[in-house]
Amino acid sequence: MDLLEYQAKEWFRKIGIPVLPSQRIDHPTDLKRLKIPYPVVLKSQVHAGGRGLAGGVRFVENTIDAIAAAQTVFNLPILGEVPEVLLAEARYNAERELYLAVVLDSTVRRPVLLGSPLGGMDIESVLEKMQYVIVDQDFSPFYARRLALKMGLQGSLMQSVSTIIEKMYQLLVQQDLDLVEINPLGVSSAGQVMALDGKVTVNDRAVGKHPDIALLAKKMASRSPKRDTPGDLGDWNGVELQGKIGILANGAGLVLATLDLVTHGGGKPGVCLNLKQGYGCEPSTTAFSDRLEQGLEILAQDKSTQVILLNLLGSVATSGEVAQVITNFLQRHETDNSSKSRYDSNFPRLVVRLAGSDLGLAKKLLTSVKVTVLESLDEAVTEAVRLTKSPVSKKSKV
Ligand code: GDP
Ligand code: MN
Repeated sequence: MDLLEYQAKEWFRKIGIPVLPSQRIDHPTDLKRLKIPYPVVLKSQVHAGGRGLAGGVRFVENTIDAIAAAQTVFNLPILGEVPEVLLAEARYNAERELYLAVVLDSTVRRPVLLGSPLGGMDIESVLEKMQYVIVDQDFSPFYARRLALKMGLQGSLMQSVSTIIEKMYQLLVQQDLDLVEINPLGVSSAGQVMALDGKVTVNDRAVGKHPDIALLAKKMASRSPKRDTPGDLGDWNGVELQGKIGILANGAGLVLATLDLVTHGGGKPGVCLNLKQGYGCEPSTTAFSDRLEQGLEILAQDKSTQVILLNLLGSVATSGEVAQVITNFLQRHETDNSSKSRYDSNFPRLVVRLAGSDLGLAKKLLTSVKVTVLESLDEAVTEAVRLTKSPVSKKSKV
């Protein structure tokens, strides 16, 4: 179960992670009774990440602007979800932004500390600089400091960031969480730190163990689901668009960033799915390979999909494992003549964006089954768009 930002921040406040003064807004007119001085930030309270990119985070200077912005944000779906509440928060002048997360890794079943010196909305850069430390023994502050040092932090900033990581870890253990994420952790010019965004995923099996969490879960369940996409994409945070390029990426932020690039590149995004199998993603309950195969299947079955674009930066799986799953998927479609076959001219082409250690091998394997592998997202997007535009846009008989 994912908490909303304002709920996560209540937990942060209790455990001593610095957060700004804020106020929950249930209706635009609540802003007439705002206790926080302007300028303030209004933030859509939906479960998806990438709200900033989607227009769900607005800076306002006065009551009139705030009410107008609130009306817009209340009606803005983000990955299919419309907010029931907004969060109004004091504005913070961050000189730099960091990314921090503590996640229970589903493959090693150990907590992993994650941090990037480049936090914020550009998920690509966040992931590119991501550092991690596996907590393989009893936890000690040493692990937190090691991460902060790996992130290139020094002096008092290194100290204050380590303290926050320790508290995030405490929260993870105390409340049986799968994920605690702060992105961004704002750093002011005076060197002070502030959690500007927060994400918490409670382990579904642990909900019953904590009365306060069970209460929250009940409240959330009673909320009328306000989705404007079909329910069967629910677990995928899916967006169902009508374009030719199906997107499968790791984490809501990366899905949105990929969608954005495809649109800017002149392509039309189709069904977009969140694999939820990367570092810092809310983990899905299925294993990586099952999940990837399911996602490929959903996209391949969609009639409008001509190209499947996979953006798997930050995956827990290695490039080799990814390549294996894709190869298996294609082989299954070779022999299976009941459903859409790979030799059918309607079968989508695959473009895969991969990065990682055993990339060479993965590339070889995938190229042999006619899958395009690229390391740069820009190139992958350009190729996907080109394939939908070229006269022989669909795979011809091999
Ligand atoms: P997300 O896009 O869903 O992750 O939403 P965030 O809460 O992270 O907001 C998006 C971006 O808005 C952040 O990366 C920050 O750069 C900025 N932001 C959010 N809250 C504040 C704030 O209180 N003060 C300032 N200056 N920037 C903020
Ligand atoms: Mn964020």
